[in-house]
Amino acid sequence: MNSSAKKQAPQHDAIIIGAGVCGIYQLYKLLELGLNVKVLEAGGGPGGTWYWNRYPGARFDSESYTYGYSFSKELLQEWNWSEHFSGQPETLRYLNHVVDKFDLREHMQFDCHVKSTAFDESNQFWTVTLDDDRTFTTRFLMTAIGMLSAPTMPTLEGTDAFEGQSFHTYNWPHEPVDIKNKKVAVIGTGATGVQVISEIADKVGELTVFQRRPNWCAPLHNSKIDDKTMADIKANYDEIFERCRNTPGGFIHGPDRRKYSEVSKQDRLALWEELYAASGFGVWIGNFRDVLVKEDVNAEYSKFIADKIRQRVNDPELAEELIPKDHGFGTRRVPLETRYYEAYNRDNVSLVNINDTPIERVTKKGIKTSEREHEFDIIIYATGFDAITGAFDRIDITGTHGQKLADKWIDGPITYLGLQSAGFPNLITLAGPQGGSVSTNFPRGIEEAVDWATDLITYMNKHGYKRIEPSEEAELEWGEDVKHTYSLSLIPTAKSWFTGYNSNVPDHDKLRYLIYNGGAPKYRERLTQVAEHEYEGFKFE
Ligand code: NAP
Repeated sequence: MNSSAKKQAPQHDAIIIGAGVCGIYQLYKLLELGLNVKVLEAGGGPGGTWYWNRYPGARFDSESYTYGYSFSKELLQEWNWSEHFSGQPETLRYLNHVVDKFDLREHMQFDCHVKSTAFDESNQFWTVTLDDDRTFTTRFLMTAIGMLSAPTMPTLEGTDAFEGQSFHTYNWPHEPVDIKNKKVAVIGTGATGVQVISEIADKVGELTVFQRRPNWCAPLHNSKIDDKTMADIKANYDEIFERCRNTPGGFIHGPDRRKYSEVSKQDRLALWEELYAASGFGVWIGNFRDVLVKEDVNAEYSKFIADKIRQRVNDPELAEELIPKDHGFGTRRVPLETRYYEAYNRDNVSLVNINDTPIERVTKKGIKTSEREHEFDIIIYATGFDAITGAFDRIDITGTHGQKLADKWIDGPITYLGLQSAGFPNLITLAGPQGGSVSTNFPRGIEEAVDWATDLITYMNKHGYKRIEPSEEAELEWGEDVKHTYSLSLIPTAKSWFTGYNSNVPDHDKLRYLIYNGGAPKYRERLTQVAEHEYEGFKFE
């Protein structure tokens, strides 16, 4: 285009993709600035993760009162959580309540699946195209597309041939599914599979679990919140959020400051018993500070948890099948469960170890392993996600000079602070790869990212800047920082979505640095420092 040609103005100041926990709050903040904002959401309503994951047993494993938004005292005081770890329907109700309370719905457009987006150099805006070819233009494009929102099915032959009902847990139907007396298969034993199995074991006719690798699971110890407790929580929100601000994971649970080697055997066991008996993630992140760092210490704790599993599973051989042997406790995401191990004591529940008898294919009637065909009415795929970068890869994102984000990130994401990537001006990747929110209690992490992004836009408007992107040097340095945070714990020793592995996605068979593992306080410090130094590392025009 001739440079003197008249520039077009974008239709919107900002488009946010995604109306989940992050998108809702970002919309609220940008409307406060008086901007013209639209949210495009693939689902039929707000809620993101909590809109989609309607499988039986879906619930928090962060304490409910640490998961709600902290930005409105009025909201905090009017909302009552019914359980310490609320179930999906209640969380979805909460998010809808927030959307309605702050009049956000009118700015959201549902059933909008973003197909592609490209930066228009001449007009300095993003054009966003939906599946149905409708387009929108915007100055800022903000992705709030979730880190576990690109579900992956196993690459098995015959999944379409099955004549019964089958679902990936993420796409669980909105209508009730009749599981009573049905023969049900669950493939996958991550946090999702564990919740499903625990919930349905006593409701179905027969349940067969297809396990590739067991995970270290520990009790959630959920309970109801009575009126008095809710009143106490409401009176103490300031302290609760202050505590979350100061723990690495943004949870109320932080590490015990002592090292394993500094305490007597008796005190060590006392803490471990206490953690196992307590509710929530303390059993994972409330431990001696070297448990997730030193292999020999981790092995001791893993032995302690293995004995707990042995005590809970009646059949000793089955117990051994359920105890991970390839990774230590806490090096993968710990599923919190309610009577998960006890489910295997039931006569109607059986486990198929697919390392011994691999699945050959899905058939019309069920699942054929190397040993035999198992017949089912329902197959549940709890097979996880193309985590963190998958949702980006599923949108065709083109930056300057025709560069595709998927090409730039082919060997792993390249970002600055997890919030922007060079060559993609004005694209802000809220809760994106290598950001702080990915490894924290999600709402706590995203509130900080959103506040920071909102301040950045305010700063740009004040200075009349139209365009921002990071320098490549800043990205390189951040990449090294993120990589370094992987060396601080045993997390890289295990293959999981934390480390970028997914057997169902081509080329996701090597370590990728997807997560900033340095902890929320350090990440916040860095964000603050960058803002205080006039957004060092970014280039403005
Ligand atoms: P996941 O942890 O990745 O687990 C997927 C499971 O499917 C694994 O057991 C995996 O086996 C198995 N699998 C994958 N492909 C397979 C194949 N082709 N054949 C056989 N087995 C296969 O996924 P997820 O359970 O959905 O959990 C993902 C994350 O979502 C969690 O870590 C957590 O952060 C979040 N989540 C949170 C909650 C909550 O309470 N708030 C609940 C559920 C999930 P391998 O282990 O061998 O790969």
